[in-house]
Parts: sequence; structure tokens; C-alpha cells
Amino acid sequence: MTDHTKECGFCGEPGATESMPFVGAEDERGIMYFHEECELRNVLGGLKHQAKICSCFLEGGDSNPPAGMTDHAEALEVMRLVKLGTWNYG
Ligand SMILES: [Zn+2]
Ligand SMILES: [Zn+2]
Repeated sequence: MTDHTKECGFCGEPGATESMPFVGAEDERGIMYFHEECELRNVLGGLKHQAKICSCFLEGGDSNPPAGMTDHAEALEVMRLVKLGTWNYG
């Protein structure tokens, strides 16, 4: 069964296809849904991290998606670069 209404816990957009149980604050338990690409972005960092212009590298930097990109669009781009083999794992 495919449910396209599930919201991704990372980007907040619907269409999440992956899920995992989570334990939150105060013993809150549930299932978190997410896009495969959003988890990848969460693990690897975003495009600004890749370009070394995020807060890890620059004082006052941020890890938001580049201007005009949604979180999900950025995650898709991260996955594209990983699949292309051009992602720099540092
Ligand atoms: Zn997502
Ligand atoms: Zn960073």
C-alpha cells in the first residue's frame, strides 16, 4: 500500500516512503516517515556543507538550502551528486 500523504520528518513535504520507529522526548514513541534522500542529506550534510560555507566552516554561516531551493529539492540534489559519484565525502 502506498500512502502519498505521509509527511517527511526532515523536509515536511508529503510523499515520504521510508519509515523508522523513534523514541522522542518524555518517552514519546511513534513512527517517523521520511524521504530516502532527506535522510541522506541529514547524514551527509547539505549543499552548503559540501561547499564548506556552512556554520561548520564559517562563523555566521548557515545550513539552510541555497536560495530558491526547498529542503526536499536540496536533498534530491545531494542524492543526485552521490549517485553521480561527485559528492566529496571530505
Ligand atoms: Zn523529505
Ligand atoms: Zn556543515
